[in-house]
Amino acid sequence: MKRVYFFGGGKADGNARMKELLGGKGANLAEMTNLGLPVPPGFTITTEVCDLYYKEGRKLPSGLDAEVAESLARLEDLQKTRFGDGERPLLVSVRSGAASSMPGMMDTILNLGLTSRSVQGVARWTSNERFAWDSYRRLVNMFGNVVMGMGHDAFEHEMSALKARVGAQQDTDLTAAHLKELTERYKTVYQKATGEAFPEDPRAQLARAIEAVFRSWMNERAVKYRAIHKITGLLGTAVNVQAMVFGNTGERSGTGVCFTRNPATGDPEFYGEFLFNAQGEDVVAGIRTPLPIERLQERLPDCYQELLRYRELLERHYRDLQDIEFTIQDGKLYVLQTRNGKRTGRAAVKIAVDLHREGLVDAKGAVKRVSPQHLDQVLHPTFDPKAPKKVIGKGLPASPGAATGRVVFFADDAEAWTKKGEKVLLVRHETSPEDVGGMHAAQGILTAVGGLTSHAAIVARGMGKTCVVGCGDLHIDLKARRFAAGGATVSEGDWLSIDGGTGQVILGQVPTVPPTTGGDLEKLLGLADQERRLRVRANADTPEDARVARKFGAEGIGLCRTEHMFFAPDRIAAVREMILASDRPARERALAKLLPMQRSDFEGIFREMDGLPVTIRLLDPPLHEFLPKEPENQREMAELLGVRPEQVARKVEALTEVNPMLGHRGCRLGITYPEIYKMQIRAILEAAGTVRGEGRKVFPEIMIPLVGTRAEFTMLLDDARAVEKEVRGQVPYRIGTMIEVPRAALTASEIAQEAEFFSFGTNDLTQMTFGFSRDDIGVFLPIYVEKGILPEDPFQSLDSSGVGRLVELATKEGREARPDLKVGICGEHGGDPASIQFCHRVGLDYVSCSPFRVPIARLAAALATID
Ligand code: PEP
Ligand code: MG
Repeated sequence: MKRVYFFGGGKADGNARMKELLGGKGANLAEMTNLGLPVPPGFTITTEVCDLYYKEGRKLPSGLDAEVAESLARLEDLQKTRFGDGERPLLVSVRSGAASSMPGMMDTILNLGLTSRSVQGVARWTSNERFAWDSYRRLVNMFGNVVMGMGHDAFEHEMSALKARVGAQQDTDLTAAHLKELTERYKTVYQKATGEAFPEDPRAQLARAIEAVFRSWMNERAVKYRAIHKITGLLGTAVNVQAMVFGNTGERSGTGVCFTRNPATGDPEFYGEFLFNAQGEDVVAGIRTPLPIERLQERLPDCYQELLRYRELLERHYRDLQDIEFTIQDGKLYVLQTRNGKRTGRAAVKIAVDLHREGLVDAKGAVKRVSPQHLDQVLHPTFDPKAPKKVIGKGLPASPGAATGRVVFFADDAEAWTKKGEKVLLVRHETSPEDVGGMHAAQGILTAVGGLTSHAAIVARGMGKTCVVGCGDLHIDLKARRFAAGGATVSEGDWLSIDGGTGQVILGQVPTVPPTTGGDLEKLLGLADQERRLRVRANADTPEDARVARKFGAEGIGLCRTEHMFFAPDRIAAVREMILASDRPARERALAKLLPMQRSDFEGIFREMDGLPVTIRLLDPPLHEFLPKEPENQREMAELLGVRPEQVARKVEALTEVNPMLGHRGCRLGITYPEIYKMQIRAILEAAGTVRGEGRKVFPEIMIPLVGTRAEFTMLLDDARAVEKEVRGQVPYRIGTMIEVPRAALTASEIAQEAEFFSFGTNDLTQMTFGFSRDDIGVFLPIYVEKGILPEDPFQSLDSSGVGRLVELATKEGREARPDLKVGICGEHGGDPASIQFCHRVGLDYVSCSPFRVPIARLAAALATID
């Protein structure tokens, strides 16, 4: 097994397709080397070694040191320098890099190879003593943190003390002599904390750094990041050992990050940030606010032009937005990394459509470059432009959306407050990887410093969280837990709003407006439509919902819950009269009042959905849900209906059930009170006739809920046929059932003899398959997920191995009994991308979801054909 892959001298052992083995960074370093880019040479230790490291109880596999030594020797030959040399020493960086990008979550160590001897060599060779000592003190600090697990405080304390003593404002004000003294102090701090001297043998430094990076795969924040982003199935991180180049050797040096297009808007402009005289991590850490990339042109025009060439080359090569890290050492440009750039939803859509237009990707390729989460962001609400706003500051719009919450200053508080049900905004000077849990919990993130490539910006964008960074107006007083900005003082717990589209920081809560759909989104969804096989319908109960659904591209209504109409203020009285009726004639009198109302509702929906199918579900909930619970409201109701209050109370009492979800509901109501369903069927068929008479195309589908046996369905089918005969001007319709009861799924072949379609009501099907009450899961389900008993909430994402098997079985056996059986899903899962993928795989005809999720479902259905 080859464990170490070399890159350098114009060729590499690996390539971009080897991400699983070499990690994203390692694979791309190899690829760029093969492309002839100026990549500092080095080698990658594979993710398989990381896997072995953990399998062998956190021990590096034997023989690895020899392979590392061999590659190191090759690197020395190529660089014509020696590791730890007293004249021209080789220095290396050791970086993590897994197959999925996890920015800042794992460890990195720079400047390895500096010792008391080699630091002299660096000083002589670069004629820059200051630089040599600055690098050395950084190494001691990083090595202490990463390898030995020391905190930052002791080092920071020494730095501040020295600065105060010599009157320095910034690190850059310190001289070589100061930095030399600081290095010695750091070493003392190191020895005190660890009980051993800082290692003088560069090979020992390297071996321990490699192990530390493997160890960081399992550090708390990396584990949390993977859990949040559902990154599973990876072997571990690779380790990249690479010759160092320096961005901090003077004013003709620098380091930066650039994007081949704007990652916030998607505009095809070169976009980036850099710092002169700085080392790699300084940009991402958000310690100094960097300069826009164009400013490079003034001082180092050749480097800027060269970078522009690589921008073009890399984007065309990878056919996607690239996020490129570079360093300039004394006027010479090096490319340190390229990867597909994280981007906002808006940018993702624009870039995908542009790449398609430019001929770089086909429809599949464009669709693949947008995730359902991206689309979710695009469809996010924004602040109402007409609402009054008290803007107290402005930062950089790092990640879009409109977020409102109560201010907290610590990530732990963000998590704790959110658990208690509060909406919070996390306000920080800058964020660090320790904050990811709090960032995830918060509605949005606001920082005082840092650029668009700072940690906060990158992580928030990846999470789809609204984020504003680098808001210089903010003066945070952490001790007092408050900040001052724009003349206002905001304390912990106060309401604040941030606009991720404009960067505005606004006092208090601001109302939001729904998002608008644009031309690029339409184009992208058009490409998705070309690719997908699944149809997408919407769950809509009113003509207004139906209109929205159609605007978003719904190809029909998959579920119209008729009971929602019963709750309308002008109907509830008639519904209650019907429920209170003591005999059938009285019930029929009340139903006669409801008939015209239902009919006009259905007419409205049929008109909106002209030419598309509309599935209308007959009454489903238990009747007690329509009666008031409080005695006072019961009295009001009695008065309105002209009955005695005791009569209402008695009815409420009589309808009370121990397990209403398993009680007198769904088709059981239709069987015990046939006149209710008959009224609804009549309303559907009459409405269909009327709208058809207007010259529109109507495709009604009558759906019976909660069927568990064929006999239930047959009885209700007979009722429908009887009504059909009574209705003039007949319109063809289909009649089918929901599959919500496990028994229905298990006897699908029998039910399909009668039913013309199945629609999986996976909310109830999940409830009854797990035996989890839909309404009572709040107490235990989060604990199940936390403890890993369930990978996630099965009411959100379909449990493919349990509930999903019932779906698969019922689809297969139903179709065997009736080959043209139409099969769809209308539970909440119909809008969940992972569940949609499952529905595609088992061959459903359509998914149905809430109108706002229709675009996401269209994309997810297309992605399902690609994955
Ligand atoms: C279902 O059970 O999945 C369903 C769509 O019906 P409801 O949520 O109305 O019970
Ligand atoms: Mg249901």
